Amino acid sequence: MADQCEFCDGEMEQRRVLARFRYKGETIYVEDVPAWVCKHCGEQYFDAPVYKRLEEIARQREQIRRVITFPLAEFDMAVS
Ligand SMILES: [Zn+2]
Repeated sequence: MADQCEFCDGEMEQRRVLARFRYKGETIYVEDVPAWVCKHCGEQYFDAPVYKRLEEIARQREQIRRVITFPLAEFDMAVS
């Protein structure tokens, strides 16, 4: 991974972040993701294995939502 930001040449540091990325036209958020963050502009970069994992999470999320949308609504009614 480059040690300088592609956009502003700022210094990079490795941090765990709330990752934000686009998947099939949707913005997905995943907490506690190891990333390289530009100290200057805040741009996030992910190593290839990390990015792959994020895509897996996004895919699973899509499946989960398809399967349990209705049961979740029922569960909410039962609690209130
Ligand atoms: Zn930058």
